[in-house]
Amino acid sequence: MEGIISFDKFYNIVNNSRVLGDKTYHGIDPSTGKTLWETPVATEDDLDKAVAAANSAFKKWSSLQQHERSRFMRDLADGLEKHKDALTELLGKESGKSVSFAESEVVMGINTMRRHADWSVPDQLLKDTEDVRIVVQHVPIGVVAGITPWNYPFQLAILKVAPALATGCTVILKPSPFTPYTSLKIAEIAAEVLPPGVVQALGGDDNLGPWMTKHPGIHKISFTGSTATGKKIMAVASETLKRVNLELGGNDAAVVTENFDVHEAAQLVAMATFAHSGQICMATKRIYVHESVYEEFMKHLVEIVKGYKPGEGFCSPIQNKMQFEKVKSIYNECEEQGFNFAVGGGSKVSVDDNRPGYFIAPAIVTNPPEKSRIVQEEPFGPIVPVLTWRDDKEVIERVNDTPTGLGATIYCRDEKRAWQISESLETGSVWVNSGLKLDPVALFGAHKQSGIGGELGPLGLKYYTNTRTITYWKDAPKGPQANGNKGLFA
Ligand code: NAD
Repeated sequence: MEGIISFDKFYNIVNNSRVLGDKTYHGIDPSTGKTLWETPVATEDDLDKAVAAANSAFKKWSSLQQHERSRFMRDLADGLEKHKDALTELLGKESGKSVSFAESEVVMGINTMRRHADWSVPDQLLKDTEDVRIVVQHVPIGVVAGITPWNYPFQLAILKVAPALATGCTVILKPSPFTPYTSLKIAEIAAEVLPPGVVQALGGDDNLGPWMTKHPGIHKISFTGSTATGKKIMAVASETLKRVNLELGGNDAAVVTENFDVHEAAQLVAMATFAHSGQICMATKRIYVHESVYEEFMKHLVEIVKGYKPGEGFCSPIQNKMQFEKVKSIYNECEEQGFNFAVGGGSKVSVDDNRPGYFIAPAIVTNPPEKSRIVQEEPFGPIVPVLTWRDDKEVIERVNDTPTGLGATIYCRDEKRAWQISESLETGSVWVNSGLKLDPVALFGAHKQSGIGGELGPLGLKYYTNTRTITYWKDAPKGPQANGNKGLFA
C-alpha cells in the first residue's frame, strides 16, 4: 500500500487499497462525549469486492507452508508494534480506556499475534499398517468474517485475524460501529506487509453484519458479541451452512470460600468485577461469599470500591449511550425494588451531572433475590450483587442455574475442594484463586448460551479448519465382504 499511515484519517481496506464512500459515520469519545473522526460506511458493493479479493487471496495464502505464514504474521506483529503508541491513543479515544489500560490491550493483541505465529494444527496419523494408512488433515475453512463488539476492539479483532492467518484462512474484519478505528488501522497496517486480500476491514451501519452473515462467498463467521445477536447470526448462517464461532455474553460468578484470606479475596474480586467498569465478558457479575466470612469480606470490599474514582485507573466510562442507559435502568430497577446498596446506587448513579462522557459510579447490591434481574442478567456495567451461601452443593446449583456458561472464579486454598467445585461448574473456563487472567495457550470457550467453538491456544485453531480424512489402501480389500468380519471398518 502506498503512503504513510495517518491516525486521523480512516478508510475501509479492500484488497490492500484504501476505500472511501459516499456516506460516513463516526464514533464518540466516551470520556468526553465528543464526536470522533468520520469514516466511510461500507456498501454491499464494497463487501462483494472484499469477498472476491479474499477468495482469490485464499488460494495462495492457504497453500503457503506454515513457516511462511508465520513469517508474515511476525511481520504484522512488528508493524503493529511500530505503531503501538498511536494505536494506544486511538484505542483510548474510541473505547474510553485510560492510557495504561489501552496500552495493555494493544500489547496483549500484539503478543497474541506473535503467539499464534508459533502454532499450527498438525495432521494426525491414525493408522499405518501393512494394508492401510489413515491421516486426518485440518484444512483451512476459507474466508472468515470477524465480527467484533465495542468493549475490547483491538484485542478481539486480533483474536479473529491471528487464528485465521495461522490456519491459512483469509479474513474480513467488521468492527462495531461504536469502535471502528483500531480495526480499520489493523487492516491498513496488514496491507503494508501481507499480500492483497488476506486481511481486510469494512466498517459500516447495521446492514453490514447481516450482509456478511448471509454472503455465500464467506465460509465462517467468527463473532464476539451479545447472545441475542449470536442467535440471529446462527439462524442466518444455517442457510449457507457457514461455520460459526460464537463468543457471547456471560454471567460469571465468583465463589469465595472460607478457605481463602478474606482481604486478599476482596481485592481480587473487586478487580475482576470493576475493571473497565464491568464491561468485560469474563468479568465477575455475581459474587457468592461463604456466610462465615461474609461480613468481613464486605467490610474490605466496600472500602476498596469506595476508593475507586471513575475516569481514573481502570474505572472507565461506559462505552456508548445505549449501554449507559441500559446500565442506569438496572440501577434504577434495584432502587425501585428496595434492594440494599452497600456502595452507590440511586441518586448516586451519575458521578457528576456536569461532567461530560458516560461515567457511572460503581455500586454493590447486597443479597437481592436470586431471581432478580441484577443476579440473572449480565449488566455489563459497574454494578454487582453479593450473595451469601452455606454449603458447596447449594452454591454450585445456584452458580449453574443460568442459561449462560462462560466462566467462573473460585477462591479456595484447599486444592481438593477447589477442583471438586470447579469440575461441577457448567462453564467454558474456571479460574481458581485469581480471576480475569487468561493464558494465551488456554482455549477460551463456553457452555450453554455463552457460545459455540472457542479461541486461543493451539486448540482454538481447530475451529478455523475443516477436517479431511484420507484413507490410503496399500493393499485394497475388494469391498466390505472382502474385509473379513470388519464390514465397512478398515
Ligand atoms: P452486539 O451483539 O450488539 O454487537 C456485536 C457486533 O455484532 C457488532 O459489530 C455489531 O455491529 C454486529 N451485529 C449486530 N447485529 C448483527 C447481525 N444481525 N448480524 C451480524 N452482525 C451484527 O454486542 P455489543 O453490545 O457490541 O457487545 C457486548 C456483548 O459482547 C456483551 O454481551 C458481552 O458479554 C459480549 N462479549 C463476549 C465476549 C466473549 O468472548 N464471550 C467478549 C467480549 C464481549
